[in-house]
Amino acid sequence: MKEKTLCHAGELFLIEQLQKNFQYNLKSLVAGIGDDAAVIKYGKDYLLFTTDMMLEGVHFDLHYITPYQLGFKLISVNVSDIYAMGGTPMYALLNIALRKKTETSFFNMLFKGIKHALSYYKTILIGGDISAVRKDIYLSATIIGSTTKPILRSGAKEGDKIYVTGYLGESACGLEILKKKGMRVKPSNNLLKRHLMPAARNPDKLKGIATSMIDISDGLLIDLTRLCDESKVGARIYEEKIPVSPQMRKTALSLGLSPLNLAMTGGEDYELLFTAPHNKKIKAIYIGDIVKSERVIIDKLGFKKAFEPKGYQHF
Ligand SMILES: [Mg+2]
Repeated sequence: MKEKTLCHAGELFLIEQLQKNFQYNLKSLVAGIGDDAAVIKYGKDYLLFTTDMMLEGVHFDLHYITPYQLGFKLISVNVSDIYAMGGTPMYALLNIALRKKTETSFFNMLFKGIKHALSYYKTILIGGDISAVRKDIYLSATIIGSTTKPILRSGAKEGDKIYVTGYLGESACGLEILKKKGMRVKPSNNLLKRHLMPAARNPDKLKGIATSMIDISDGLLIDLTRLCDESKVGARIYEEKIPVSPQMRKTALSLGLSPLNLAMTGGEDYELLFTAPHNKKIKAIYIGDIVKSERVIIDKLGFKKAFEPKGYQHF
């Protein structure tokens, strides 16, 4: 019989296997594989560790993004995972592999973008590694943060409400504009800005309120599935409550795309998706409720359909 490929196994399954194989019974390890960041109890506080890579041809295309924007984005996507734990970023480490023939101006602009983002998030660079690479560029950042109370993916309870912090599908729509143009364009509108230089959402106002949280990096449906899996609950979301900006709707339709589909499955928005008790007053967008086990979308006519973890999966 032919051996199963990674693509057939799927990313969610692969991570599930790793979670099972690397389980530790350590008092200090509050959360390991399976959350946005690892959580280690350290004295009275908790340290947070996260790492995320960006690969040329997989995560970015230099025909669309400048080295400066790339540097900024690399830090934002990692800070977003610290924010998703209710944390504050503190230190950054970088692993960068570039082609031997890359101009020094590329290197300088990449690090200018990195520096801009680090100062924006009040984080400092403390080390890393640089290497040459034969073909595709490789970038990876590790961010260390802290919090007094981590917000895990696993804390959602039946009866909690589900919220997001802003418009969805913006970044995916921005990418579609770039693909259509086939070249770099100035980030003259919000959709392009949110794709090229996303800003992570600060969770400070959600501390002590949110019962569970994740950042939307791969798409609403897949990230909601991850949160539900970790919390061992279901979710009922309402199609008409999913926030779509007028600009995204208009642009998506003009490109022949479904705005709702972009909002539900488009990645890289870096909005926070969280749950909170139903009786709390929350300044965020309510999109549905945590229920016992079913995972469904209710459409405008009130019809239910089960949702799949659709969104960006590497395998
Ligand atoms: Mg995340």
